[in-house]
Parts: sequence; C-alpha cells; structure tokens
Amino acid sequence: MRITIAGAGISGLSLAYAIREKLGGAGKEAEIFLLESEGRVGGKIRTHHENGYIMEWGPNGFLNNKPDTLALTRKLGIDDLLLPSNDAARKRYIYSGGRLNQLSPAGFLLGGLLSWRGKFRILKEYTIPRCTEETDESLADFVRRRLGKEALDRLIAPMAMGVYGGDPERMSIRSCFPAIYNLEQEYGGLFKGMFGKMKEKRRARTVSGKSEADPSAGPAGPGGVLTTFRGGLDVLTDALGKAFKGKLFLNATVTAVRVTGGKFEVSAEGIDSPLETDIFISATPAHAAKDFLAPLDPQISETLSEIEYVPMSVVGMGFRKTELHSELDGFGFLVAADEARKIIGCLWDSSVFTDRAPEGRASVRAMLGGGRDIKTPFLPDRELSELTLEELKITMALKAAPELTRIFRHEKAIPMYTLGHSDRLSRLDYAEGKYPGLFFSGNAYRGVGLNDCVKESYSVAEKVARII
Ligand SMILES: Cc1cc2nc3c(=O)[nH]c(=O)nc-3n(C[C@H](O)[C@H](O)[C@H](O)COP(=O)(O)OP(=O)(O)OC[C@H]3O[C@@H](n4cnc5c(N)ncnc54)[C@H](O)[C@@H]3O)c2cc1C
Repeated sequence: MRITIAGAGISGLSLAYAIREKLGGAGKEAEIFLLESEGRVGGKIRTHHENGYIMEWGPNGFLNNKPDTLALTRKLGIDDLLLPSNDAARKRYIYSGGRLNQLSPAGFLLGGLLSWRGKFRILKEYTIPRCTEETDESLADFVRRRLGKEALDRLIAPMAMGVYGGDPERMSIRSCFPAIYNLEQEYGGLFKGMFGKMKEKRRARTVSGKSEADPSAGPAGPGGVLTTFRGGLDVLTDALGKAFKGKLFLNATVTAVRVTGGKFEVSAEGIDSPLETDIFISATPAHAAKDFLAPLDPQISETLSEIEYVPMSVVGMGFRKTELHSELDGFGFLVAADEARKIIGCLWDSSVFTDRAPEGRASVRAMLGGGRDIKTPFLPDRELSELTLEELKITMALKAAPELTRIFRHEKAIPMYTLGHSDRLSRLDYAEGKYPGLFFSGNAYRGVGLNDCVKESYSVAEKVARII
C-alpha cells in the first residue's frame, strides 16, 4: 500500500507523522511518499536568523490551550525547547483615534477605544434575538447585528485581520469563527453563551470535585499562551522532517493527478516518471491543488479555485534599544478598521519572546496587505520598508531608524474562508467519496492556525487508517 502526500508544510508533515502513528498502533504498514515543491520543508513556517536576530517569515507561535501541537512536540522530543511568551504579551493594543489603546476589561469601561454609545451597543447584545435564518452570514454583518459597527471596526475587524488578513465583509462567520457562531446558535447570544459556558464549567468542576484554575490560563489569558521554540518555529517542522519515515521528494512540484487502473497516478516536475499510489492526499494550498487536480476532475478544481487567498508582506525591523526610547511593553498592536493606515498591525517580537533580538536590541514585525489591501504587499522593497517605517512613526511614535530591515513576502499568504465556504467543504467531502483514497488536508479547509492544521492531520490520518 502506498500513500502519497503533496505539500510538506506543517499540514503535510504532521499528517505523515499522524498516519505512521495510527498505522503503527493498528499493526498496519504503508509506504509514504511526501512531495514538496520547495527545496525545504516547513511551508509558511520559516525562521530567518541574522546577526543574532530571529525573525519569522510567517507564524510566530501557537496557543498552548489545544492539545494536538503540544502533544506532537512531546512525541518528537522537542518539548524542552518550547518557549512561552513573556508576561509582557498580556498587554495588547488597538491603534484607534490616533493612539494605542490597551485592551482590558477596565480599558473597555473607562478607556477611549469605544465611545459610550459603542459600549452600550455592545452591552445591548444580551437582548438581541438569535438569528434563525439559514443563510451564511458575513463576519461584518454578524458583528454589526449583534455588537454594533464600532465593535466591528475597533475590536473584531482588527482581530480578523490579525488572524486571517481577511476582509470581514466577505468572510463567513460560520467558517472563520465557528466558536463565536455557535455561541449564538446554542445559547442565543454571545454574552448568554459566555455565561452559559462559565456555568457549565463550574458545574463540571463541582461534579468532578476539582477546584483548581484552568491550567491553560497564562499570560494570554484563558485563550492560552502563545508558544514557540527557542531558535524559532521551524524547530517544529525541521523535527518533523527528520522524524519522517518514508521517501521525501524536495523540489518536486505536483503537476497532475489522474486515476488509471484503480490507482492514482501522480506527475510532478522534478520526478522522471509518474508515481502510482493507492492513496493521494493534497496538503498543498488550494490554489495549487486546483491545478494538479484539474486532470482528475474539473469540478473539484472549480471548487478549489473558489477558495481565495490574500497577499501579505511581513516587514521585520531590528533596533538599538538606546535609540528606541520605548520599552515596547506588550504583544504589539492591531489597527482599527476605520483608521486610514497601511499596516494591519505590528508585533513587538522581542518583547513577546526572549530570544528574538541580541543583547541591547529590540525587534518588531509589521504586517501589510490582506483582503482589503491587495496592492501594498507588492510594493518594491525600498518603498515597502519606507512606508512601514513611516506607519510605525505615526502609530507607535517610533523615532529610531532600524539597523536591520528584512521583508518576507507571501503572495498567497492565508486562505480567507468567504461566504459559501461550508458548501465548498461539502462538495470536497463528496469528491472524497467519489474517489476513494483521495483526501484533502491543510489550512485551506477547517482552520488556519497551526493547532487547526495539526488537528486536521490527525483527523485525516484516522480516515486513512480506516481504509488500509
Ligand atoms: C504572515 C503569517 C502569519 C501567521 N501567523 C500565524 C500564527 O502566529 N499562528 C498560527 O497558528 N498560524 C499563523 N499563520 C497561519 C499558518 O502559518 C498557516 O496556516 C500554516 O502554516 C499552513 O500550513 P500548511 O501546511 O497547511 O500550508 P503551507 O505552509 O502553505 O504548506 C504547503 C506546502 O505545499 C507546498 N506546495 C505547494 N504547491 C505544491 C505542489 N504543486 N506540489 C508539491 N508541493 C506543493 C508548498 O511549497 C508548501 O511547503 C500565519 C500565516 C502567515 C502567512
């Protein structure tokens, strides 16, 4: 039995690992081929080291409140390298009204991020009835309906931009933030849902007799602690690459998948003849899968082409602390949607993780682009770094000039689950049924966070193990 996986980002790598684990547990065996178009594994996870600075191309960590990624690090024996974010990461800011506003319950009540009208509108959420319409609703419509426009512009849209880089007017609430969507569906509203969940937790603790606090509550609150590895996030993907037991083909771009004689035939640039395989799993971005699955089934290709990606550029800067005149005390900030700024936000990396800058230095990374600004990420290097510096001067009163600037470009950074995404997933489920042995994995479908990708890998591995 041969299994071929296309794409060696966190999804493809963790999938290969999970399949081995599931098969091993069931006393089954299979040969695994992993085809990756780049000359390295890791995909969007990539760490840049220069003059003592550690800068991430893309993700800078995962939350430790979900079990799968943490469990994987333990199995790989790299848990001693885990690096939780500093206490400073508790402080998060939104740039609005010409200043950085700290996010906190006290800030909500007394701070100037929201007007009194905006605050009352949020509190009114408790009285807004559940929406009973079956239609897929955009994140923007959902938030305007339940919390009001100010909450959308100043709280939720920046958060959505921070996670997906997406455009709230086109993102599906159901697909992008299912937990929030379900609060309304199950409890009738967001406040009602939060109170209901708190009550359920208290009841469960009383029944089990446990009284200790939530162990996941840390510097980032009950949502978990942002966690990386000493030396950078690619410690994880490098370890998965080393642990991979099978045949890894680098510089092998899958170009076509067909079915012949009851098996999949996989053609790839960089490989002389097509590979025959019993199981084929696409763990590439959907925009790549749409091309190589077109020969198999144009309808699948059409569905995949509907999954949009947003471009993003990450601009990393290193500064001498003596010139910075600021402690960068916090996680960083996101920009409110009603501000006419060019950056989505900026992470104060060296304040979040201890090893990101050498002694006496500090580093930040600004994000530009996303679903609402598809031009800026493509500016030439010089223009992009000058623009970023100008934006940082305005938003965080930066006065220093960086001693190091590096640009990390993602032409297709993150999939944006637009309206109709759940229908697309149903069509892909149907395709999996139509072609037994075909599976889809990766961040294009059921979550873009690293935790989501690893969770999805284990769920796909379960399906694979069932048919072997
Ligand atoms: C700027 C940025 C910041 C982010 N921040 C965070 C964060 O802090 N926390 C978090 O949890 N998530 C974050 N994310 C999201 C997260 O990084 C991604 O969702 C995740 O890494 C995607 O992994 P993947 O394996 O599904 O896809 P990818 O990493 O895109 O991997 C897909 C792989 O497929 C390969 N490939 C493509 N075409 C082919 C082909 N035809 N044949 C063979 N191989 C092919 C690619 O080269 C790539 O290696 C961020 C993303 C970006 C871009």
